[in-house]
Amino acid sequence: MTNSEQERWSRVKGRLRSTVGEDVYTSWFARMDLEAVQDESVHLSVPTRFLKSWIQAHYAERVLSAWQAEMPEVHRIDLSVRTAMRCAAPAKEAPAPVEARRPERSDAKPAADTRAPLMTPVAASHDALGGSPLDPRLTFASFVVGRANTLAHAAARQVADGRRGDPVMFNPLYIHAGVGLGKTHLLQAVTWAGNAGGERKVLYLTAEKFMYGFVAALKSQTALAFKEALRGIDVLVIDDLQFLQGKSTQAEFCHTLNALIDAGRQVVIAADRPPSDLESLDDRVRSRLAGGLVVEMATLGEDLRLGILKSRVAAARAHHASFDVPEPVLDYLARSITHNGRDLEGAINRLLAHSKLNNQPVTLDMAEREVRDLVRPQEPKRIKIEDIQRVVARQYNVSRSDLLSSRRTANVVRPRQVAMYLAKTLTLRSLPEIGRRFGGRDHTTVLHAVRKIEALVGKDVALNDEVESLKRQLQD
Ligand code: ADP
Ligand code: MG
Repeated sequence: MTNSEQERWSRVKGRLRSTVGEDVYTSWFARMDLEAVQDESVHLSVPTRFLKSWIQAHYAERVLSAWQAEMPEVHRIDLSVRTAMRCAAPAKEAPAPVEARRPERSDAKPAADTRAPLMTPVAASHDALGGSPLDPRLTFASFVVGRANTLAHAAARQVADGRRGDPVMFNPLYIHAGVGLGKTHLLQAVTWAGNAGGERKVLYLTAEKFMYGFVAALKSQTALAFKEALRGIDVLVIDDLQFLQGKSTQAEFCHTLNALIDAGRQVVIAADRPPSDLESLDDRVRSRLAGGLVVEMATLGEDLRLGILKSRVAAARAHHASFDVPEPVLDYLARSITHNGRDLEGAINRLLAHSKLNNQPVTLDMAEREVRDLVRPQEPKRIKIEDIQRVVARQYNVSRSDLLSSRRTANVVRPRQVAMYLAKTLTLRSLPEIGRRFGGRDHTTVLHAVRKIEALVGKDVALNDEVESLKRQLQD
């Protein structure tokens, strides 16, 4: 190919880039090569069949007119698929080989031959797909296992150790727990470990990142590329699913979830509540989420807190050899600091800062002063709507299904109203969500019940006692 042909090709690419926009260009055209120019026809090539048919179906006109702007005599574009040898070295400007890992429905076994030569280094493809940043400290090595998280840890380990093509044991793996109990730590550990071999591609995204990535992609018209990219990974890890909002994002999430699960890819999810409590998600997604393995991580017990503190001290000592926290101080911290892992980390950081700045060893006295605000006598318990229904049903001697039923006899109406009232006052659930959880009632029904009981407890002493007793049972 002559130099002038090459220059012309660069200009054509420049035109394409400015007509379709940077993102579309990188997704679809970055690896298109010029093979030859002959009379009226230009011969171009791309690395995969999928790219070829996509460009033919959607961009044929634009490619042709970009050429015609440079060479009016061109009337035909021939597009061919390059051999595997050539696509082993993708163009520098190409990001993750988006289409290359797409499972092709028409082929029985496309995975091995179309993907393998195109694997890019993990870190690069993580960025190209807009993966959320990973904290290098959040690994399995630094994760302390205890009663609260044994099952979640074992399941996460299983996912991380899987190999491409292994049968998936549970899908999705859904981990839920309150704030600071190690969800993000565990999910990032899976991502680090899963990517370590270089064989599989594990993508970690916060639900927010998933949302913004998708919205941004829609705006720049690369939604398809984004979807394909997502579907092209082996393990999708999504953190903080409770923040997923918006109809179209949810629809997209649903498609992605289905596509991945049906293709035998692993999905790992963390949220601050069980699938049944994800109020804004539609029923199908919820049931799909609940269809895998749902594991709760409990609040960190004292021994686990002690373990975490020790591992934090050990990590700090790697950089500050003189730093040490005596055993009695560790015991004190483990006993008195809340269940939130972040506070444990914060406590060690403060002790470190204090002892460094003042050049003093850590003592119990100093610890008590430094972490005073982190010491809370009792974490409020997370109360679930099911627990409320169970306890109320027991108290009034009706069944839980009575509470959910449409029966309107007095002996179930009052307990039902009490249960709805407790659900509103003891949980953060919205009225529509509570209605849904009580046999699909309207939110106005719930509101009515809440107001009714609110008014009654003000004047009916017996009812007030009942409600207080129920609250105590639920809060212990
Ligand atoms: P979540 O995502 O559930 O809110 P994180 O994973 O961010 O919680 O954990 C909060 C802090 O507590 C982090 O510093 C994390 O490393 C630490 N942590 C929580 N659980 C553990 C554990 N089992 N082992 C070690 N560190 C933990
Ligand atoms: Mg988190």
